[in-house]
Amino acid sequence: MDDIFCKIARGDIPSCKVYEDEYVLAFLDLGQVTKGHTLVIPKKHSTNILDCDEEYLGHVFKAAQKVANALIKTYGATGVNILSNANESAGQSVFHFHVHIIPRYGNDEYLELGFKEHDTSNMDLKAMAEEIAKNI
Ligand code: 5GP
Repeated sequence: MDDIFCKIARGDIPSCKVYEDEYVLAFLDLGQVTKGHTLVIPKKHSTNILDCDEEYLGHVFKAAQKVANALIKTYGATGVNILSNANESAGQSVFHFHVHIIPRYGNDEYLELGFKEHDTSNMDLKAMAEEIAKNI
């Protein structure tokens, strides 16, 4: 598998690098949803979080924490969204695992991240939790 982020990880395609170690690369997202929007990717290919091996997964999230704190320090972000889209139905468009670090400034006109919550009073949440737990 050789996708655009594999090429960025190898340095075959340029990127604006924020952080790098043996396992991961963090670079600015071309789309810049908010100022400083950064992607963290594992250097070893996986499609998304669902098939990423645990060692790399740990390094990706360690780097995500470093980048998030750097964005707060650098630009005075007051919060941060850390998210990863897995598969097309969830909005994934580049099929190499990546975590978005999106700094928030309190008035982010380009970003609407809202969840509509359901009324769960008629749902059996305990049964759902048990059903899911069986598959872990
Ligand atoms: P997804 O939709 O898969 O969660 O996010 C893919 C992200 O990759 C998008 O936010 C998009 O702006 C970013 N992106 C796509 N191609 C490139 C590229 O060549 N370079 C950089 N820096 N970002 C890219």
